[in-house]
Amino acid sequence: MTAQIIDGKAFAANLRTRIATEVARMNEQGITPGLAVVLVGEDPASQVYVRSKGRMTKEVGMASFEHKLPADTPQADLLALVERLNADPAVNGILVQLPLPDHMDEAAVINAITPDKDVDGFHILNVGRLATGQKAMVPCTPLGCLMLLRDRLGSLAGKNAVVIGRSNIVGKPMAQLLLRDSATVTVAHSRTADLPGLCRHADIVVAAVGRAGFVKGDWIKPGATVIDVGINRTEDGLVGDVDQASVEKVAGAMTPVPGGVGPMTIACLLANTLTATARANGLPDPEGLTP
Ligand code: NDP
Repeated sequence: MTAQIIDGKAFAANLRTRIATEVARMNEQGITPGLAVVLVGEDPASQVYVRSKGRMTKEVGMASFEHKLPADTPQADLLALVERLNADPAVNGILVQLPLPDHMDEAAVINAITPDKDVDGFHILNVGRLATGQKAMVPCTPLGCLMLLRDRLGSLAGKNAVVIGRSNIVGKPMAQLLLRDSATVTVAHSRTADLPGLCRHADIVVAAVGRAGFVKGDWIKPGATVIDVGINRTEDGLVGDVDQASVEKVAGAMTPVPGGVGPMTIACLLANTLTATARANGLPDPEGLTP
C-alpha cells in the first residue's frame, strides 16, 4: 500500500479562501475582524511565524496589528499592553507569541487575555470549556489536525486514536477533540510502555513529539491515518516526527512535513479570529470552523 499524502497546504489555502469570503460578508455589515500579534524578543523562528501570520491576516482582509517589544520588557508592561488590547474594540483576537523570555510567567500572561479574544485557545477558561464540551476557542494546531482527519475519515466515532505527546498546546487538546468526536483515545508520552504496540492498534496516530522520524512504518496498522505535527530542523531540512519513507508503505493516508499540519495552524488562527469576531458581534459561528 502507498499512503495517500494529505495535502495540508491545499486544504489550508481553501480554508483561507472561505475565510476571506466570510470576512467580505462581515465587511458589508461594517465589521472588520482584527488580529493583534505580540512578539517579545527576537527569537528567529518566532519572527518568521509572526511575519507570516501578519501577511496572511491581511490577505484574508482582516486588520493586522503587530506589537514588537524588546526581550527585556518588564512583564508589567506586557500585561498593560494585553489590557489595552482586551479593551480595544478593533481587536477581536490576541495572540502572544510563545515562548516568552525566561523572566516572564507565561501562564500569567496568557490568562490575562480576555478568553473570548484568546485565539490560541491557551487561556485556562478555554481549556476548561473544551474539556467540558462548552463553546471554546480551540488551539489552532489540533483544530487543524481535526479538520484534516474529518475530511479524510468522515466520522471519527469508534476509531482507535493514539496521540503521542501530552503538551498543553498540541497533545492534550488534540486528545480532547478526538474524544469529543467519540474516538477511543490513548495519550502516549515519554513514559509510555510499548508505544509501537499501542500504535499498531490505532486507526489514527497523531505524532507531536519533537523527534525527527520517530514513528516508524512497522508501528503502523495497515491503512491507518497518520498525522505528523512535528517540525524538526535537521541537516536534511525540515522533517516531521514520522519516518515518511517507511510509514507511507503501510498507512492509508499521512500528512507530509512540510506541507501538512503546518499550513493548517495559521489558517486555523484566522478561523478562530473569524469565530471570535462573529461571537463578539452576536453572529452565529461561521460554519465548519469550530469543533
Ligand atoms: P513538547 O516538547 O511540549 O511535548 C513533546 C511530547 O512528546 C511530550 O509530551 C513528551 O513526553 C513526548 N515525548 C518525548 N519523547 C518521547 C518518547 N520517546 N516517546 C513518547 N513520547 C515522547 O512539544 P510540543 O507538543 O510543543 O510540540 C511537538 C512537536 O510539534 C514539535 O516538533 C513542535 O515543533 C511541533 N509543533 C508543530 C506545530 C505546527 O504548527 N505544525 C505547532 C506546535 C508544535 P513527556 O510529557 O513525558 O515529556
